[in-house]
Amino acid sequence: MGIRITSFWHVAVYSLGVCIIAAGGPLLVLWHMLGWLPHFLLVGVCLVVTICVLSIALPLSIIAINSIRVINGTVDSLNRLVKFDALTGVLSRNHFLAYCEAKRAEGGYLLLLDADHFKKINDLHGHEAGDFALKHIAQAITEVFAPWGQIGRLGGEEFAARLPGLSFAQAELLAATVCTKLRNQGFEYEGRQICPTLSVGLVPETGRGTLANVLRRADRCLYQAKSHGRDCYVAEEAAAGLAAQAA
Ligand code: GH3
Ligand code: MG
Ligand code: MG
Repeated sequence: MGIRITSFWHVAVYSLGVCIIAAGGPLLVLWHMLGWLPHFLLVGVCLVVTICVLSIALPLSIIAINSIRVINGTVDSLNRLVKFDALTGVLSRNHFLAYCEAKRAEGGYLLLLDADHFKKINDLHGHEAGDFALKHIAQAITEVFAPWGQIGRLGGEEFAARLPGLSFAQAELLAATVCTKLRNQGFEYEGRQICPTLSVGLVPETGRGTLANVLRRADRCLYQAKSHGRDCYVAEEAAAGLAAQAA
């Protein structure tokens, strides 16, 4: 874990600790070694030593510990930048895939969600409106899936959700919910109403084969959703089969 120094309060407290140790040690030694001196002289010597030690230890400890605070802050910012997608705030591709890999044994479902005709949104309303649309989509996806698992942006206008431990009925309901939510809930951009929709591919995660293979299967379902006219979800036949077995 290590020591976390993230605020000026931490700097003040740790610097105080360093100063107490730096001044306290020599003072104790002096007090015992020079115990034979008259009391006023002993106190005077200790006072001079304390002032000398503190005049060096205090600024040095503040500079050193504040540097640790700055480094801690920078590392935290870099971690956030690497872990989360800067535009939408959902997990970045690598972190999302690492989560999927870690959760493979827990079953549940993986969903690929791709914005429909997104190029048209950029072409009709501009790239900035497209960025707004991506944030809008990510927010809707997060609202629907966050209580059940993790959401990532795989790239461009393609997102994914990994929902460990859910049944087929639950995953299917969430897929339908996210499609309906987006269809009915557009957003306004510079006075114009924009209503992006999603196509979704849904596959079970059985823990067999590789994660790349699971993603390929989800991509095939997504492709079918696109061929079925978009704004819908397609579940892999195996998913429905598993649900039938469980019922
Ligand atoms: P489909 O329904 O078949 O998925 O069509 P589509 O237009 O969504 O797919 P296509 O792959 O043809 O175009 C994707 C577009 O998404 C093109 C690209 O400029 C846009 N895009 C990707 N990333 C971003 C982004 O970060 N911001 C914006 N504004 N647009 C993006
Ligand atoms: Mg698309
Ligand atoms: Mg795409």
